Amino acid sequence: MNNKMELTFKVIIVGPSAVGKTSLLNRFVHNQFALKYKLTIGVDFLTKTVEYQPSKSVKLHIWDIGGQERFKFLHRSFYEGASGALIAFDLSRQHTFSSMKNWLSEMRSIMTNEIPKVIIGNKTDLIPEIGQIIDRSAVEQYAKNEDCFYVETSAKTGENVEKAFLELTQRIVKKVG
Ligand code: GDP
Ligand code: MG
Repeated sequence: MNNKMELTFKVIIVGPSAVGKTSLLNRFVHNQFALKYKLTIGVDFLTKTVEYQPSKSVKLHIWDIGGQERFKFLHRSFYEGASGALIAFDLSRQHTFSSMKNWLSEMRSIMTNEIPKVIIGNKTDLIPEIGQIIDRSAVEQYAKNEDCFYVETSAKTGENVEKAFLELTQRIVKKVG
């Protein structure tokens, strides 16, 4: 039953610029996608109820950060109180993978508590066109070492987007319950 007692969790999405963080949120929350790039300024957030088990749901407050260095001063309050994190990179741009690792270590240095994390390799729809640029087994190994779940998504087609959020929600619920 959906009632007003529904638990709410803060979830954050981080990663380098233009990897598709805002697009993943728009796909997940509004089931929409736009190819036009609109820079996220500062911090934005969206809310969505997730049914993590039949007839069991929680509410997610998903915070979206601008990837720009100049917003670094916001990071501390951005991370504060987060119950889970999505860390995204772009499967079509090699350097976003190493940059994503920096985001993860920054998060670890700021947050004192361990929270469930999902690493997202986004833009799978481009792989048939451009080929596989990033070594998938290296990403999987990295995710395993960091105790993160790894999923490859496309905000454009919607592939695995629900899965990424559902997996994170299930891990959060498991941790608190
Ligand atoms: P952010 O800076 O990480 O929030 O990235 P955006 O969500 O603004 O997306 C950056 C650009 O990548 C935009 O032009 C999007 O349309 C595009 N984009 C995002 N996700 C995908 C995807 O899954 N596939 C493709 N082909 N383009 C994407
Ligand atoms: Mg954005």
